Amino acid sequence: MKRRSIVAANWKMNGNLSLINDMITGLNAVHLTENVDVVVCPSFPYLASFTAIAQREGLQKSIHLGSQNVNEHQSGAFTGEISIDMLKECSVQYVIVGHSERRDIYKESSKLVADKVACVLDAGLTPILCIGESEAERETEQTNLVLSAQLQSVIDKIGIEKFDDVVIAYEPVWAIGTGKTASPEMAQETHQFIREFLALSNAEIANKVPLLYGGSVNASNCETLFAQPDIDGGLIGGASLKVDEFKVICSAA
Ligand code: PEP
Repeated sequence: MKRRSIVAANWKMNGNLSLINDMITGLNAVHLTENVDVVVCPSFPYLASFTAIAQREGLQKSIHLGSQNVNEHQSGAFTGEISIDMLKECSVQYVIVGHSERRDIYKESSKLVADKVACVLDAGLTPILCIGESEAERETEQTNLVLSAQLQSVIDKIGIEKFDDVVIAYEPVWAIGTGKTASPEMAQETHQFIREFLALSNAEIANKVPLLYGGSVNASNCETLFAQPDIDGGLIGGASLKVDEFKVICSAA
């Protein structure tokens, strides 16, 4: 079965209005195959701008808007936070949840990540659930344990059936923004483990879930990574800030 491929741009706290304009123009010029979706995740202030420009300029239908985070509550006294309904009003369709920078810098627990996944799904949007091990965890052969625990807390919260609407991004923390990429073989081996772990709960769903790889993906390594049988696209940080390079990565999916 051919799964949907997804290439998502995580701009983190980078980018500006000019990059939004250039990215929309650039991506509109890419020939995306029918099975590929592209998701652009700028910072919150640019979500509404992206939608307004996309409406004005027109946008290929397989290009979508994503957010880098959401608050797990519906509304209330949470200064500085953004709710899922606010994201929906900006025409956001995907939400990155549990990025390692959120888990590490902002101390988001696996329970909080699971609550956010549930919040995104309840609103009818698609979570991009990030999981990944640190360098020390890989070196001490705890990768599979760490990934299983991160996944299990979400399974316990939402149930395996709802993974039908979840995208998973495997991002080894040691490969994010470091220029160190997992080799295609190592990434494939870990993606296969993730799929097998999900299959313990539901084999049919495990086979359908898009599994993205993230961690220093660029125009030179994307093709071999995306050619692996269990890699269904990528979550791209640094290279997604360069329109021409991101276009190459989207075309490789
Ligand atoms: C990321 O932040 O999700 C990421 C994968 O970053 P980079 O591509 O820069 O490693």
